[in-house]
Amino acid sequence: MPALDAHLEQRLKLLEAKHLRREPKGTSRKEGVQVVRGDKTLISFSCNDYLGLSHHPDVISAAQEAVATYGAGAGASRLVTGNYPLYDELESALAEYKGTQAACVFGSGYLANLGVIPALVGAGDLILADKFSHACMLDAARVSGATLMRFAHNNIEHMKILLAANRTEHQNCLIFTETIFSMDGDAAPLSEMYQLAKEYDAWLMTDDAHGLGIVPPQKAHIQMGTLSKAAGSYGGYVCGSKALIDYIKTSARSLIYSTGLPPASVAASIAALKLIQKDTSLGEKALANARYFTSLLGLPEAQSAIVPVIVKENEKALELSALLEAAGFLVSAIRPPTVPEHTARLRFTFSALHEKRQIEALADILKVEGIPCES
Ligand SMILES: *Cc1c(COP(=O)(O)O)cnc(C)c1O
Repeated sequence: MPALDAHLEQRLKLLEAKHLRREPKGTSRKEGVQVVRGDKTLISFSCNDYLGLSHHPDVISAAQEAVATYGAGAGASRLVTGNYPLYDELESALAEYKGTQAACVFGSGYLANLGVIPALVGAGDLILADKFSHACMLDAARVSGATLMRFAHNNIEHMKILLAANRTEHQNCLIFTETIFSMDGDAAPLSEMYQLAKEYDAWLMTDDAHGLGIVPPQKAHIQMGTLSKAAGSYGGYVCGSKALIDYIKTSARSLIYSTGLPPASVAASIAALKLIQKDTSLGEKALANARYFTSLLGLPEAQSAIVPVIVKENEKALELSALLEAAGFLVSAIRPPTVPEHTARLRFTFSALHEKRQIEALADILKVEGIPCES
Protein backbone atom coordinates (compact mmCIF):
# COMPACT_ATOMS: atom_id res chain seq x y z
CA MET A 1 0.00 0.00 0.00
CA PRO A 2 1.38 3.50 -0.81
CA ALA A 3 2.69 5.33 2.28
CA LEU A 4 0.02 8.03 2.12
CA ASP A 5 -2.82 5.49 2.06
CA ALA A 6 -1.29 3.42 4.88
CA HIS A 7 -0.98 6.58 6.98
CA LEU A 8 -4.59 7.55 6.33
CA GLU A 9 -5.93 4.01 6.91
CA GLN A 10 -4.27 4.15 10.32
CA ARG A 11 -5.91 7.47 11.12
CA LEU A 12 -9.32 6.22 10.01
CA LYS A 13 -8.95 3.21 12.33
CA LEU A 14 -8.20 5.48 15.27
CA LEU A 15 -11.29 7.58 14.55
CA GLU A 16 -13.41 4.47 14.25
CA ALA A 17 -12.17 3.17 17.62
CA LYS A 18 -13.40 6.41 19.24
CA HIS A 19 -16.73 6.34 17.36
CA LEU A 20 -15.67 9.57 15.67
CA ARG A 21 -15.47 8.54 12.03
CA ARG A 22 -17.95 10.38 9.82
CA GLU A 23 -19.12 9.73 6.31
CA PRO A 24 -21.84 11.25 4.15
CA LYS A 25 -24.80 8.94 3.60
CA GLY A 26 -26.86 9.04 0.42
CA THR A 27 -30.08 10.84 1.30
CA SER A 28 -32.91 12.11 -0.90
CA ARG A 29 -34.99 14.84 0.62
CA LYS A 30 -38.59 14.82 -0.50
CA GLU A 31 -41.31 17.40 -0.19
CA GLY A 32 -42.37 17.96 3.41
CA VAL A 33 -40.25 16.32 6.11
CA GLN A 34 -39.60 12.98 4.43
CA VAL A 35 -36.19 11.74 3.38
CA VAL A 36 -35.20 8.52 1.64
CA ARG A 37 -32.09 6.60 2.73
CA GLY A 38 -31.39 3.36 0.98
CA ASP A 39 -34.78 1.72 0.62
CA LYS A 40 -36.23 3.41 3.68
CA THR A 41 -38.41 6.49 3.94
CA LEU A 42 -37.83 8.39 7.19
CA ILE A 43 -39.34 11.40 8.91
CA SER A 44 -36.49 13.84 9.28
CA PHE A 45 -35.80 15.73 12.49
CA SER A 46 -32.36 16.68 11.18
CA CYS A 47 -32.84 19.16 8.34
CA ASN A 48 -32.15 22.87 8.77
CA ASP A 49 -34.81 23.68 6.16
CA TYR A 50 -36.99 24.90 9.05
CA LEU A 51 -39.76 26.37 6.91
CA GLY A 52 -39.77 23.76 4.16
CA LEU A 53 -38.84 26.46 1.63
CA SER A 54 -36.29 24.35 -0.29
CA HIS A 55 -39.25 22.61 -1.92
CA HIS A 56 -41.71 25.53 -2.01
CA PRO A 57 -43.23 25.97 -5.50
CA ASP A 58 -42.44 29.74 -5.61
CA VAL A 59 -38.81 29.06 -4.69
CA ILE A 60 -38.41 26.26 -7.21
CA SER A 61 -39.93 28.23 -10.07
CA ALA A 62 -37.78 31.29 -9.26
CA ALA A 63 -34.70 29.06 -9.47
CA GLN A 64 -35.85 27.52 -12.76
CA GLU A 65 -36.48 30.93 -14.33
CA ALA A 66 -33.05 32.15 -13.24
CA VAL A 67 -31.31 29.19 -14.88
CA ALA A 68 -33.20 29.87 -18.09
CA THR A 69 -32.31 33.59 -18.00
CA TYR A 70 -28.77 33.66 -16.59
CA GLY A 71 -27.46 30.12 -17.05
CA ALA A 72 -26.22 27.48 -14.65
CA GLY A 73 -23.16 29.29 -13.34
CA ALA A 74 -21.96 32.84 -12.64
CA GLY A 75 -18.94 32.52 -14.92
CA ALA A 76 -16.52 34.49 -12.72
CA SER A 77 -16.05 36.23 -9.39
CA ARG A 78 -18.59 38.93 -8.61
CA LEU A 79 -15.79 41.47 -8.96
CA VAL A 80 -15.15 40.37 -12.54
CA THR A 81 -18.26 39.42 -14.56
CA GLY A 82 -20.20 37.28 -12.06
CA ASN A 83 -22.35 40.06 -10.60
CA TYR A 84 -25.61 39.40 -12.48
CA PRO A 85 -28.61 41.65 -11.62
CA LEU A 86 -30.21 39.24 -9.11
CA TYR A 87 -27.45 40.05 -6.61
CA ASP A 88 -28.66 43.66 -6.23
CA GLU A 89 -32.19 42.49 -5.63
CA LEU A 90 -31.16 39.95 -2.99
CA GLU A 91 -28.86 42.37 -1.17
CA SER A 92 -31.58 45.06 -1.02
CA ALA A 93 -34.05 42.50 0.30
CA LEU A 94 -31.61 41.29 2.97
CA ALA A 95 -30.77 44.84 4.11
CA GLU A 96 -34.45 45.68 4.30
CA TYR A 97 -35.26 42.54 6.29
CA LYS A 98 -32.40 43.13 8.74
CA GLY A 99 -33.00 46.88 9.01
CA THR A 100 -29.47 47.77 7.87
CA GLN A 101 -28.17 50.16 5.21
CA ALA A 102 -26.62 47.49 3.05
CA ALA A 103 -25.77 43.81 2.58
CA CYS A 104 -23.23 41.64 0.78
CA VAL A 105 -23.92 38.11 -0.42
CA PHE A 106 -21.14 35.48 -0.25
CA GLY A 107 -20.76 31.97 -1.66
CA SER A 108 -21.80 30.42 1.66
CA GLY A 109 -22.09 31.21 5.36
CA TYR A 110 -18.70 29.61 5.90
CA LEU A 111 -17.19 31.83 3.22
CA ALA A 112 -18.90 34.90 4.72
CA ASN A 113 -17.23 34.36 8.10
CA LEU A 114 -13.96 33.44 6.43
CA GLY A 115 -14.03 36.67 4.43
CA VAL A 116 -15.55 39.17 6.85
CA ILE A 117 -13.58 38.48 10.04
CA PRO A 118 -10.06 38.74 8.53
CA ALA A 119 -11.19 41.83 6.57
CA LEU A 120 -12.03 43.59 9.85
CA VAL A 121 -9.42 42.41 12.38
CA GLY A 122 -5.80 41.25 12.26
CA ALA A 123 -2.59 41.08 14.29
CA GLY A 124 -2.80 43.38 17.32
CA ASP A 125 -6.62 43.13 17.44
CA LEU A 126 -8.81 41.05 19.75
CA ILE A 127 -11.67 38.64 18.97
CA LEU A 128 -13.88 37.64 21.88
CA ALA A 129 -16.09 34.74 20.91
CA ASP A 130 -18.60 32.51 22.63
CA LYS A 131 -17.15 29.14 23.55
CA PHE A 132 -19.85 27.39 21.49
CA SER A 133 -19.32 29.37 18.29
CA HIS A 134 -19.37 27.51 14.96
CA ALA A 135 -16.16 26.04 13.50
CA CYS A 136 -16.07 28.55 10.63
CA MET A 137 -15.66 31.42 13.12
CA LEU A 138 -12.64 29.60 14.58
CA ASP A 139 -11.12 29.10 11.14
CA ALA A 140 -11.73 32.75 10.28
CA ALA A 141 -10.17 33.92 13.56
CA ARG A 142 -7.07 31.81 12.85
CA VAL A 143 -6.77 33.21 9.33
CA SER A 144 -7.14 36.78 10.63
CA GLY A 145 -4.11 36.62 12.95
CA ALA A 146 -6.02 38.47 15.70
CA THR A 147 -5.82 37.22 19.29
CA LEU A 148 -8.79 34.95 19.98
CA MET A 149 -10.24 34.61 23.48
CA ARG A 150 -13.38 32.65 24.25
CA PHE A 151 -15.92 33.43 26.93
CA ALA A 152 -18.08 30.86 28.69
CA HIS A 153 -21.28 30.21 26.75
CA ASN A 154 -23.68 33.21 26.93
CA ASN A 155 -21.84 34.47 30.02
CA ILE A 156 -21.96 38.29 30.20
CA GLU A 157 -19.90 38.37 33.41
CA HIS A 158 -17.09 36.45 31.76
CA MET A 159 -17.24 38.74 28.69
CA LYS A 160 -16.85 41.75 31.00
CA ILE A 161 -13.88 40.23 32.80
CA LEU A 162 -12.11 39.49 29.50
CA LEU A 163 -12.85 42.95 28.13
CA ALA A 164 -11.70 44.71 31.30
CA ALA A 165 -8.45 42.72 31.35
CA ASN A 166 -7.60 42.76 27.62
CA ARG A 167 -9.40 45.48 25.69
CA THR A 168 -6.91 48.32 26.13
CA GLU A 169 -3.94 46.23 24.97
CA HIS A 170 -5.55 45.68 21.58
CA GLN A 171 -6.34 48.15 18.87
CA ASN A 172 -9.70 46.86 17.63
CA CYS A 173 -12.06 44.40 19.28
CA LEU A 174 -14.68 42.17 17.69
CA ILE A 175 -17.21 40.35 19.87
CA PHE A 176 -18.66 37.32 18.09
CA THR A 177 -21.70 35.22 18.95
CA GLU A 178 -24.54 33.29 17.37
CA THR A 179 -28.10 34.59 17.65
CA ILE A 180 -29.34 31.01 18.04
CA PHE A 181 -26.70 28.38 18.81
CA SER A 182 -26.50 25.68 16.18
CA MET A 183 -25.98 22.68 18.48
CA ASP A 184 -27.77 23.98 21.61
CA GLY A 185 -30.72 25.90 20.20
CA ASP A 186 -30.52 28.63 22.83
CA ALA A 187 -30.41 32.39 22.21
CA ALA A 188 -27.58 34.81 23.01
CA PRO A 189 -28.24 37.78 25.36
CA LEU A 190 -27.84 40.21 22.46
CA SER A 191 -29.09 43.47 23.96
CA GLU A 192 -26.69 43.14 26.92
CA MET A 193 -23.89 42.22 24.52
CA TYR A 194 -24.61 45.24 22.33
CA GLN A 195 -24.47 47.46 25.41
CA LEU A 196 -21.20 45.90 26.49
CA ALA A 197 -19.70 46.36 23.03
CA LYS A 198 -20.57 50.07 23.18
CA GLU A 199 -19.07 50.42 26.64
CA TYR A 200 -15.75 48.88 25.57
CA ASP A 201 -15.58 50.36 22.07
CA ALA A 202 -15.95 46.94 20.48
CA TRP A 203 -17.90 45.72 17.43
CA LEU A 204 -20.62 43.13 17.90
CA MET A 205 -20.87 40.50 15.16
CA THR A 206 -23.70 37.98 15.12
CA ASP A 207 -24.09 34.74 13.18
CA ASP A 208 -27.81 34.36 12.46
CA ALA A 209 -27.56 31.02 10.64
CA HIS A 210 -30.31 29.48 12.80
CA GLY A 211 -32.23 32.64 13.65
CA LEU A 212 -33.35 33.82 10.21
CA GLY A 213 -37.03 33.05 9.68
CA ILE A 214 -37.45 31.80 13.25
CA VAL A 215 -36.68 34.77 15.52
CA PRO A 216 -36.79 38.48 14.57
CA PRO A 217 -33.50 40.23 13.61
CA GLN A 218 -31.73 41.98 16.50
CA LYS A 219 -29.29 44.86 16.55
CA ALA A 220 -25.58 44.21 15.97
CA HIS A 221 -22.87 46.11 14.08
CA ILE A 222 -22.15 43.19 11.77
CA GLN A 223 -24.89 40.64 11.06
CA MET A 224 -23.88 37.60 9.05
CA GLY A 225 -25.87 34.52 8.23
CA THR A 226 -26.67 31.87 5.67
CA LEU A 227 -29.29 31.35 2.99
CA SER A 228 -28.89 27.58 3.26
CA LYS A 229 -31.08 26.94 6.31
CA ALA A 230 -34.53 28.50 6.73
CA ALA A 231 -34.14 30.26 3.36
CA GLY A 232 -33.91 26.79 1.81
CA SER A 233 -31.30 27.67 -0.82
CA TYR A 234 -27.55 28.33 -0.69
CA GLY A 235 -25.23 31.26 0.00
CA GLY A 236 -24.08 33.46 2.87
CA TYR A 237 -24.45 37.15 3.64
CA VAL A 238 -23.39 39.99 5.87
CA CYS A 239 -25.57 43.03 6.66
CA GLY A 240 -24.55 46.34 8.20
CA SER A 241 -23.74 49.96 7.46
CA LYS A 242 -22.92 51.17 3.96
CA ALA A 243 -19.32 51.80 5.00
CA LEU A 244 -19.00 48.24 6.33
CA ILE A 245 -20.43 46.67 3.20
CA ASP A 246 -18.43 48.90 0.82
CA TYR A 247 -15.29 47.90 2.68
CA ILE A 248 -16.17 44.20 2.73
CA LYS A 249 -16.84 44.20 -1.02
CA THR A 250 -13.43 45.57 -1.77
CA SER A 251 -11.45 43.49 0.72
CA ALA A 252 -13.02 40.13 1.72
CA ARG A 253 -10.80 37.55 0.04
CA SER A 254 -13.40 34.76 0.04
CA LEU A 255 -15.66 37.08 -1.98
CA ILE A 256 -13.02 38.39 -4.36
CA TYR A 257 -11.24 35.11 -5.13
CA SER A 258 -14.24 32.83 -5.48
CA THR A 259 -16.85 32.53 -8.23
CA GLY A 260 -20.28 34.08 -7.73
CA LEU A 261 -23.18 31.84 -6.74
CA PRO A 262 -25.18 29.98 -9.37
CA PRO A 263 -28.07 32.30 -10.40
CA ALA A 264 -30.63 29.68 -9.35
CA SER A 265 -29.47 29.93 -5.73
CA VAL A 266 -29.73 33.71 -5.63
CA ALA A 267 -33.17 33.71 -7.26
CA ALA A 268 -34.37 31.01 -4.84
CA SER A 269 -33.17 33.11 -1.89
CA ILE A 270 -35.03 36.19 -3.16
CA ALA A 271 -38.25 34.18 -3.42
CA ALA A 272 -37.69 32.60 0.01
CA LEU A 273 -37.08 35.95 1.72
CA LYS A 274 -40.33 37.25 0.25
CA LEU A 275 -42.19 34.28 1.73
CA ILE A 276 -40.48 34.69 5.11
CA GLN A 277 -41.47 38.37 5.25
CA LYS A 278 -44.99 37.83 3.99
CA ASP A 279 -45.91 34.96 6.24
CA THR A 280 -44.41 34.91 9.75
CA SER A 281 -46.71 32.01 10.65
CA LEU A 282 -44.21 29.56 9.11
CA GLY A 283 -41.48 30.46 11.62
CA GLU A 284 -44.03 30.49 14.42
CA LYS A 285 -45.16 26.99 13.45
CA ALA A 286 -41.60 25.61 13.50
CA LEU A 287 -41.05 27.13 16.93
CA ALA A 288 -44.40 25.84 18.19
CA ASN A 289 -43.48 22.33 16.99
CA ALA A 290 -40.16 22.47 18.89
CA ARG A 291 -42.04 23.64 21.98
CA TYR A 292 -44.58 20.87 21.66
CA PHE A 293 -41.69 18.39 21.70
CA THR A 294 -40.03 19.95 24.76
CA SER A 295 -43.35 20.00 26.59
CA LEU A 296 -43.99 16.32 25.82
CA LEU A 297 -40.59 15.36 27.24
CA GLY A 298 -40.51 17.81 30.14
CA LEU A 299 -37.45 19.57 28.69
CA PRO A 300 -36.81 23.32 29.12
CA GLU A 301 -38.99 25.24 26.62
CA ALA A 302 -37.40 25.47 23.16
CA GLN A 303 -36.06 28.93 22.23
CA SER A 304 -35.68 28.04 18.56
CA ALA A 305 -36.33 25.23 16.09
CA ILE A 306 -33.37 23.28 17.54
CA VAL A 307 -33.62 21.02 20.59
CA PRO A 308 -30.56 19.11 21.85
CA VAL A 309 -30.80 16.06 24.07
CA ILE A 310 -27.36 15.51 25.58
CA VAL A 311 -26.51 11.85 26.21
CA LYS A 312 -22.77 12.50 26.86
CA GLU A 313 -21.04 9.53 25.23
CA ASN A 314 -20.50 9.17 21.48
CA GLU A 315 -21.47 5.52 21.39
CA LYS A 316 -24.75 6.18 23.19
CA ALA A 317 -25.63 8.98 20.77
CA LEU A 318 -24.93 6.73 17.79
CA GLU A 319 -26.94 3.87 19.31
CA LEU A 320 -29.97 6.07 19.89
CA SER A 321 -29.73 7.57 16.43
CA ALA A 322 -29.69 4.04 14.94
CA LEU A 323 -32.62 3.00 17.10
CA LEU A 324 -34.66 6.01 15.98
CA GLU A 325 -33.76 5.31 12.36
CA ALA A 326 -35.04 1.75 12.71
CA ALA A 327 -38.29 3.26 14.00
CA GLY A 328 -38.58 5.56 10.97
CA PHE A 329 -37.03 8.80 12.26
CA LEU A 330 -33.88 10.52 11.08
CA VAL A 331 -32.13 12.21 14.01
CA SER A 332 -28.41 12.97 13.80
CA ALA A 333 -25.96 12.07 16.53
CA ILE A 334 -23.68 15.07 17.09
CA ARG A 335 -20.21 14.28 18.41
CA PRO A 336 -16.94 16.09 19.20
CA PRO A 337 -15.32 18.16 17.81
CA THR A 338 -18.66 19.69 16.74
CA VAL A 339 -19.57 19.77 20.46
CA PRO A 340 -17.32 19.55 23.58
CA GLU A 341 -16.07 16.12 24.77
CA HIS A 342 -18.62 14.11 26.78
CA THR A 343 -21.54 16.19 25.49
CA ALA A 344 -22.48 14.02 22.51
CA ARG A 345 -26.13 14.52 21.76
CA LEU A 346 -29.12 13.95 19.60
CA ARG A 347 -29.94 17.17 17.80
CA PHE A 348 -33.61 17.47 16.88
CA THR A 349 -34.66 20.16 14.42
CA PHE A 350 -38.27 21.10 13.86
CA SER A 351 -39.96 22.28 10.72
CA ALA A 352 -43.14 24.20 10.08
CA LEU A 353 -44.19 21.10 8.15
CA HIS A 354 -44.01 18.52 10.96
CA GLU A 355 -47.33 17.19 12.12
CA LYS A 356 -48.24 16.84 15.78
CA ARG A 357 -48.66 13.08 15.52
CA GLN A 358 -45.12 12.73 14.15
CA ILE A 359 -43.74 14.64 17.12
CA GLU A 360 -45.83 12.56 19.52
CA ALA A 361 -44.60 9.29 18.00
CA LEU A 362 -41.00 10.46 18.32
CA ALA A 363 -41.48 11.55 21.94
CA ASP A 364 -43.08 8.20 22.80
CA ILE A 365 -40.02 6.26 21.65
CA LEU A 366 -37.68 8.56 23.56
CA LYS A 367 -39.67 8.12 26.75
CA VAL A 368 -39.44 4.35 26.44
CA GLU A 369 -35.65 4.76 26.12
CA GLY A 370 -35.56 6.78 29.33
CA ILE A 371 -34.85 10.09 27.54
CA PRO A 372 -34.30 12.64 28.95
CA CYS A 373 -32.12 10.91 31.58
CA GLU A 374 -32.73 11.86 35.17
CA SER A 375 -29.10 12.66 36.07
C1 LIG B 1 -24.40 26.32 8.93
C2 LIG B 1 -23.68 27.37 9.66
C3 LIG B 1 -22.74 28.19 9.03
C4 LIG B 1 -22.29 27.94 7.62
O1 LIG B 1 -23.25 28.28 6.69
P1 LIG B 1 -23.21 27.59 5.24
O2 LIG B 1 -23.98 28.52 4.39
O3 LIG B 1 -23.81 26.25 5.39
O4 LIG B 1 -21.76 27.53 4.85
C5 LIG B 1 -22.18 29.21 9.75
N1 LIG B 1 -22.49 29.42 11.04
C6 LIG B 1 -23.36 28.64 11.69
C7 LIG B 1 -23.67 28.92 13.11
C8 LIG B 1 -23.98 27.59 11.03
O5 LIG B 1 -24.81 26.79 11.68
